[in-house]
This record gives sequence, C-alpha cells and structure tokens, in this order.
Amino acid sequence: MCCDLKRRFLLLYATQKGQAKAIAEEIRQQAGTHGLEADMYCISEVDKYNLEAEKDPVVIVISTTGTGDPPDTARKFVKKIQDKTLPPDHFAHLQYGLLGLGDSEYTFFCNGGKTVDRRLQELGAQHFYDTGLADDCVGLELVVDPWIDGLWLALKEAFLLQKEKEGMSSNIDAVSNSLSAASPVREPDLTSEIQHLKLENKGVRSSDVLPQKLVDINLVTSARDTEPSLVHSVPPISESALNVPALPPEYIEVQFQDTHGENPSPSSLISEGTAFEVPITKAVQLTREDAIKTALLLELDIADTTFDYQPGDSFCVVCPNNVNEVEELLHILGLSEKGEHFVCVKVKQGTKKKGTTHPHHIPERSTVKFILTWCLEIRAIPKKAFLRALVECTSDAGEKRRLQELCSRQGASDYTRFIREPNVCLLDLLHAFPSCRPSLNLLIEHLPKLQPRSYSVSSSNLFQPGKLCFVFNIVEFPACPTRLISCKGVCTGWLAELVAPLLQTNKNILDAKGGSPSTEKISIFARPSSIFQLPADPSIPFMMVGPGTGVSPFIGFLQHRQKLREEHTDWEFGETWLFFGCRHQDRDYLFKQLRCFLENGTLTHLKVCFSRDLPAAEVAPPKYVQDVVRLYAKEVVRVLLKERGYFYVCGDKKHMADGVSDAVVDILSMEMAVDKLEAMKILATLREEKRYLQDVWS
Ligand code: FAD
Repeated sequence: MCCDLKRRFLLLYATQKGQAKAIAEEIRQQAGTHGLEADMYCISEVDKYNLEAEKDPVVIVISTTGTGDPPDTARKFVKKIQDKTLPPDHFAHLQYGLLGLGDSEYTFFCNGGKTVDRRLQELGAQHFYDTGLADDCVGLELVVDPWIDGLWLALKEAFLLQKEKEGMSSNIDAVSNSLSAASPVREPDLTSEIQHLKLENKGVRSSDVLPQKLVDINLVTSARDTEPSLVHSVPPISESALNVPALPPEYIEVQFQDTHGENPSPSSLISEGTAFEVPITKAVQLTREDAIKTALLLELDIADTTFDYQPGDSFCVVCPNNVNEVEELLHILGLSEKGEHFVCVKVKQGTKKKGTTHPHHIPERSTVKFILTWCLEIRAIPKKAFLRALVECTSDAGEKRRLQELCSRQGASDYTRFIREPNVCLLDLLHAFPSCRPSLNLLIEHLPKLQPRSYSVSSSNLFQPGKLCFVFNIVEFPACPTRLISCKGVCTGWLAELVAPLLQTNKNILDAKGGSPSTEKISIFARPSSIFQLPADPSIPFMMVGPGTGVSPFIGFLQHRQKLREEHTDWEFGETWLFFGCRHQDRDYLFKQLRCFLENGTLTHLKVCFSRDLPAAEVAPPKYVQDVVRLYAKEVVRVLLKERGYFYVCGDKKHMADGVSDAVVDILSMEMAVDKLEAMKILATLREEKRYLQDVWS
C-alpha cells in the first residue's frame, strides 16, 4: 500500500546569506520529481520539528559564517546539541545526510557543518549518505550538484533500511518500485529537460536597447567564432544535447498600484535586531590621494541611542544599491515610468511550491524603486535556477540557447568561467542578452536579500563616549570584458559618496574635533563578537597583528586600554605589541597616531613595515607583517606559551591571515624544537583556548 509508506524526509537548513536555503529549496523541489516529499524548515524553527523523535531520514544543509561559526540561525541548535549531559546514544535513532557550505580561503573551512556533523556522530546518529563539503572559493556547485544527484539513491536505501528495521519488509518492494519508477521517467515540467537545441539566429537584437550596451555586446563577442565567451559557445557544448534544470515555478505576484503613500524605513527591514539611525559626525580620508586603496574613517554619533559595543565587536551597516544601477535596471525591465509606483507583493494564489511564504525582506507594499534599492542584492551572481527562469523571458533564439547552456550540466565549466569567476551580475547578463526581459516578480524570486555589511568597531566607548568609529577601504572593481566600466563596492561606494562633502584629510585623527556637522544618517545594528575581545585580566600580555584596515579594532583596544590605565593607576597592565603594515609610509600609514599610544605607554611595542617603499638600508627590511612577526620569534613564544597571553589577527584573509599563522607555526616549531605537525597542534590548542583569535574578511 503505497500511500502508507513513508516517503517523507526532514530537510533542515541553516543559512546566513541565503545560499543554504536556496540549496535546500532546490532539494525540496527535486524531491518531488523523485516521488519524495521534503518537510523543510529553518533549523531555528525548533517548534516545527523534533529530532529526538524523528524516524525518517534527515537532510541538513548548513553554511559557515565568520571565523568558522555556524550561521546565526543555527546557534541555538548547536548549543542544544553540545549539551555535555546528553548521552552518547541520544540520536542513535537518527539517520542523516549533511551538506556543509564554506569557503576554503578561511581557516575553518565548512566548520559550521563539520561541528554539527561531529556532534551528531558523537550522539550516535548514523550517516545514510556521505557528508558533502562545498567550497565557495572554487564554486559551490562543484560539490552541491553531484551531492544532490547522489542523494536520491541514498535516500532510497535509507528508506529500505528503515522499513527493514521496522519489520515492514513486505512494503520494501513497493517503496523500491515507487522510487525507481519516479527516477528515470519524470514529469516533463518538474524534471531535467533533455533538449536538443541548435544555435540559431545569434544576431544582436531588440532596437530599444541603449546604444552603449550594443557597443558592450560587440566587444564582449569580438572573438566569438574562435573563443567561447559569456554569450558565445564553441563545440562540443554548442552542439551537444543539454540537461537543463527544471523550470522553477513562479510563485510571486506583483500588483502595480498608485504612487500615493510612504515607503517603509530601510531599517524596518532588519530582522537581526534593532537598527538605529545615527548621524555621521566625522569623515576622514586616512590615505593620500596617490595611495592604491582609499581608506576612510567615519565617526557616528550613537549618544542618543541604546546602541552599545565593546572594543573588538563588529556591527552592520544597512546600505542601498547604486542609484544608477537601479535606474538602469528599471529601464531594461521597461519600468522607468513606474519606479515610484507602489506594488503589492504576494505569494501567488494556489502556488504549488510547498511551504512558500512571503519573502521577509520584501515589504508587502513599497515602490518598485524601493525594492530594487533596499531589498535585493542586484549585484548577486545569478544562480543556475535564475538563468533557467531567464531563458523563458528571452526572445532571441541564440541567446536562449546560450542561457540554456550556461545553466545546463554540460555548461558547468562555462558557468564557472563566464559567470561565477568574473562575478557577472544580473545587469551584466541583461546587457549581454538584450532580448531577455525578466519581470519584477522573477527578480524578487531569484535575487537574494541585500545584505547589510559588517565593519569592525575602531573606537572605545570609554575613550570616546557616545561615539562609534570604523575604518574601511573603498572597494573598487576595475573594468573587465563583461563590464566595461569600473565600479565600487555597494556599501563602501555608497558611504564614500555620502560623506564626500564632509571629508577631512588625515591630520590628527585621534585629536580631530570633527569638521562641519553632517545631516547624513545611516542605519546600523549590532553584531557583537563573543570572542574577539581584550583579555578580561588586564595583566595578561597580548600581541596584535593588523595591517591596513585590519588595525581598526586594535585602535579600539588601545583607546580602551589607555583609558583604563588613566582611571586605574594601581592596576597591573600586561605588555602590548602591535604589528602594522601598509604599502607606503607616506601614502597609507593609516594611523600615524599609533606613536601616541607608544609614547604614553599604552602600547609597549609598535612594529611597522612598508611593502612597497624602496629600502634605504643595504639590507632590505621585512615587507609584510608576517615577516616582522618572525623576527620576534622568542617574544611570540614567551607571550603565548610562557605567559599564556593572547594573539589577535585582523584584516585580509587571503594574503595576510594565513601568512601570519604559517609564521607562528614556524616559530613554534623552531623555538620549541618540535616538528611542523606538532607546532600546528599547539596552534590548534591556542585557537581552541581562544588565545589565538582572528577577525578576517575578504
Ligand atoms: P561589495 O559590493 O559587497 O563587493 C565585495 C564583494 O564583491 C567581494 O567580496 C566579491 O565577492 C564581489 N566581487 C569581486 N569582484 C567583483 C566585481 N568585479 N564586481 C562585483 N563584485 C565583485 N571591511 C573593512 O574595510 N573594514 C572593516 O573593519 C571590516 N570589518 C569586517 C568585519 C566582519 C565581521 C566582516 C564579515 C567583514 C568586515 N569587512 C570590513 C568587510 C566588509 O563587510 C565589506 O565586505 C566590504 O566593505 C565591502 O563591502 P561593499 O559592499 O563595498 O562591497
């Protein structure tokens, strides 16, 4: 009796930026084509599922955030399963498969997934399918796609095992039959479509495309006959049959209304806590005009709010998309005239997509422009499901075919090469495929939430009561074949424009009393760090490594420490070290005032290096902070091991943080006379004891 058989499984996702959720949705959708049903929940929705009583297989998709932390939505869950009083057979009844998402550029790759996996194993749960660890650095899809492909057979086996266990062997054949019947012969609207499509009519098309874009397209396609590009394919893919993903059913309905009313405030979109709208009271350019990167320091007035922070915390800035990009998008979507119209966004009545809810980041009523400006990450790299949906909105047959190729299994490497690696966004795609005219509802369905950006606090509320400072580099993306004009980062580009009228140059930041008061306000909310904090005991020594803007939280540490020293002359204070580096002493030495901390004794040792200055001495000085750290090997070992001090690293994850930890491993190995593996173990212990702490970003 087929209907009595359990073909349901529990699907949990823990997401930070929406990727794990999108993948879980893909799994749920595909489950239908395999005759299965996924009960899908966010892992934080603990009232909706019960792992303690779960009999069916469980699939978990979980990302990693920060320095190897599980996503915020999984924190409670992780805390719960880490309860030391749980017996080792607590989850002995549980069969699960886990897909972890991460980025191998970070030290603790996929640590969110690994932590949950390890703990479930410790509590007796069994894998019904091997754990997948997908790497955003090389493309999540390289692991995610095959992992999902293999999931169905694994689930089938898990169901069979489950039935065997329950002594219901009489039903096994029926399950087996229903599943194998569901696999190869699928309903056409739900399954991968095998398509035999030929390239045809690849001419450049619609007449209402901006002339600039036609120029762009010609440039993009100049080598079209020989070389593949975003818009052009070559054999074998141009001639092969394609497995394209199932067309995701549309589920959002957008009703256009009048132009009366007010948009919600952008800070009301924040679900992560209370957002505060605060004035910018100071903006200082820390770098000289000829520096390669431009670093700005902003000071915010938080005196009239309940916003509180500790040095070492980071916080989030709510930011809008670039106004020109929004206008251009409106133009391409044919909505220029309707930008100020309010729209009512609803889930389509009778939608078949299970568990569909109104997207939380989209207000039920707001203007089209508001949605494109404040709600959707319009620069996001379009996922394959989005490309698949765009095929249906494209009139030119050649463009249609290329979009199909890019989202097909056969086009996986083209997708990586021409979309993922060059960070192609929706606007780039719409320029390259001008007959593609998606509707607003499709954008709402497929573009992720515009994420607030995190920044490390660069001040101490003890030193500057009522103020919060932060430092950032203006992110710049140079022009490239798919984007002929350079652009700036969403948040840093916006902030730079916002503060341009009140910008001061870097004279004496710590003493500057602030320039002309600004009326500009930004919305911020807290993102407290539980671990990147000063040692609770002020007598403990610590070392800080923060080149470039990585020095930012350490300014907060030092301000705090200076104030404590002034207020508590009888306390004992441990020694402090700061390793700072930048390109040029004259152009981007962000805080020359670090010397003040040295002079007043707050900082015991300041070690700086300049990577691009020509050496004056015969023997070239070290270029990078990790090289300077190596020079102080004995002190590093004394502070870390003998005096049980702390070691903080902040800044660029790609080039610096790994270089510093390699240097520390070498130092430990050399000074302790142990091999590299042993030294790595010592470092791992220091990390576990939260005495080697990193706050790194890309
Ligand atoms: P975005 O528009 O978000 O662009 C940056 C991203 O775009 C890149 O990460 C990359 O994925 C992508 N990209 C790459 N190439 C291109 C391209 N050609 N076109 C389009 N996109 C591309 N930063 C600081 O400067 N100071 C800090 O103190 C600081 N603290 C942080 C603390 C934490 C906990 C975290 C997580 C991050 C911190 N950051 C800090 C980083 C900061 O949050 C932002 O990522 C950074 O400022 C860039 O934001 P943006 O919106 O300007 O850039």
